[in-house]
Amino acid sequence: MRDKDTKGLIFDIQGYSVHDGPGCRTLIFLKGCPLECKWCSNPEGISPLPQLMYYQDRCIGNFDCVKACRSQAVCIDQEREVAVIDRTICRGCVDLECMDVCDHNALLVSGYYMTIEELMKTIQRDRQYWGAGGGVTLSGGDPMLQYNFTRSVLQRCHDSYIHTAMETSGHAPWAHFEGILDYLDWIFFDIKHMDPKMHRMATGVLNNTILDNAKKIAQLENIRMMFRMVMVPGFNDSFENVKATAEFIKGVGQGEINILPLHHLGSSKYKLLGLTYNFDLRTTPTRESMEWAREIFAEHSIECYIGNDTPF
Ligand code: SF4
Ligand code: SF4
Repeated sequence: MRDKDTKGLIFDIQGYSVHDGPGCRTLIFLKGCPLECKWCSNPEGISPLPQLMYYQDRCIGNFDCVKACRSQAVCIDQEREVAVIDRTICRGCVDLECMDVCDHNALLVSGYYMTIEELMKTIQRDRQYWGAGGGVTLSGGDPMLQYNFTRSVLQRCHDSYIHTAMETSGHAPWAHFEGILDYLDWIFFDIKHMDPKMHRMATGVLNNTILDNAKKIAQLENIRMMFRMVMVPGFNDSFENVKATAEFIKGVGQGEINILPLHHLGSSKYKLLGLTYNFDLRTTPTRESMEWAREIFAEHSIECYIGNDTPF
């Protein structure tokens, strides 16, 4: 397949992003992630397939979608007079007949395919608004899950003198990182927990591949490496874990981390996807606890930026 025919599955593109790399940037969210963090604020980014999002409060109960779906994935809730999606049958089919017939925008799809050419047109259009020092940031999900597309986008941007950044879970074959690193200026490298079992409990995977990749990337001189950690009270905010994280970053020769407070802003999206969000009752970190973590990083000579309070 020719490079220009490679398609990526994207669920959002945001212009004017100022928190995900230097300057003003175009932020591109790719679908699919090898981790399933229980607190994920972009749950639509986890599945590598298009997904139906059902806004039940918009449904007027005319049941056009029930007739349209050939898989019989839409049923009628007689009591509430609304449509109900059977997620064991619906896999976000390519035809999306249900969405086409719903005039009330109750059924929308998350995820659309774009070719490299189409995405580069969007990037080139945005470029004139970035001003000096901006560029493109790939996020998700994890862009590494769509390796071929990600590699092509980064290469095309790099060849056009566009600054490139990517946020990654780090859980990908090293050969894939090797394939893209020549085209990457910045990497936001997520750290969830230093203990392998705790990591698997909350994300579904062990952290050994992630930490091995982090060590290798940290040795490269041409990439700015920014670790990122969502502070989740009761999970990764203990003194032992923050200290172990600081020691790891220092041990690999890096000196920056951006810590982000857990929030619940993505919780409503779980319902739209037919998923359950179990983190509602988890408290969000206080400013004091974030400052306390910053102190621990500072004791290890790690520059720690809290939330959006970054120098970029
Ligand atoms: S077509 Fe739309 S408004 Fe009509 S029942 Fe289906 S989801 Fe509801
Ligand atoms: S996405 Fe496809 S399978 Fe799912 S409800 Fe709509 S038409 Fe049916």
